[in-house]
Amino acid sequence: MDVLADFAQRLQELFLFLVNNRLESLSFAATIAFLFVILLVDLHRRGYRFSWPRRLLKSVGANIAFWWVSLLFAPAVLLLTYPVKQFYDAIGLPGIDESFWQGVPAWLLVPLAIVCYDFANYWNHRLMHHRWFWPVHAIHHSDPDMNALTAYRIHFLESVIMALSYILLLSWLGFPTGSMGMGAVLLTLHSMYVHLNVDWDHGPFKYVIASPRMHQWHHADLPEAYGKNLANIFPVFDLVFGTYYVPGPCHEPLGAKGVPENDVVKLILYPFAVWGKLALKLFRPSRKAQTSVPDDLAKTETHRTVEPDASTATP
Ligand SMILES: [Zn+2]
Ligand SMILES: [Zn+2]
Repeated sequence: MDVLADFAQRLQELFLFLVNNRLESLSFAATIAFLFVILLVDLHRRGYRFSWPRRLLKSVGANIAFWWVSLLFAPAVLLLTYPVKQFYDAIGLPGIDESFWQGVPAWLLVPLAIVCYDFANYWNHRLMHHRWFWPVHAIHHSDPDMNALTAYRIHFLESVIMALSYILLLSWLGFPTGSMGMGAVLLTLHSMYVHLNVDWDHGPFKYVIASPRMHQWHHADLPEAYGKNLANIFPVFDLVFGTYYVPGPCHEPLGAKGVPENDVVKLILYPFAVWGKLALKLFRPSRKAQTSVPDDLAKTETHRTVEPDASTATP
């Protein structure tokens, strides 16, 4: 019972933290303001006629649903990260002490924290394109009508993996958590910005900050583009690690074959369904089954990985 009471207490504290956290509120307000501006610009372009395609409206609805699901799961994500942080502290891996950053001014610390965050995100994202994680990340790629809210189309399991890696990184670097929080609003807005349905490439600054065109290629359902443009903010990581791909304006279809498009329940269950099929195949007593992967996994994933595994390739 003590464990349950402790759990309930911690859950309550986390809810209060989220409600009282000014950065969360600021991020939420900035998101709403950004969406309002986009809506006005889009309405202006359409001559103030409410005439959006039906599938786009479904996509927006699904993305809003995912946004709220992630808000609901936020305390659970934080709860899951707590024992990891404890474990990390307990084994005492060598890292940079927090006092190291005391003399560094905030104007330098915040961009530095964002660069470190983006570096971690690059490898997170690369991991999410690995065949075992792809069924989770496929949910983000499932949107056939990319829009600003696609930034929020993230499976809660992906949120857990990302949160764990940030905690490890921030613990190791010893960054004051406030420095990362200050950049959070900008990161959210930039993520919404790159998902806009516009062909902006940033001209001479295209290698400095990721553009909507660059991220459209990441979502393109085209073999040449699979597993490319993994950096969220700084294209330099893609340039250095050989995953940069922007051949020009992107006119390719967006989305992910074999993955439900805008059905929220099916999308949430999708990774479990694929892994279930995989487990069934693995435990089936045939030699062939032990070396193959389910059709769903093979169909959607082998084309998406950064380093495809030849043994699972499909024609
Ligand atoms: Zn991706
Ligand atoms: Zn995206």
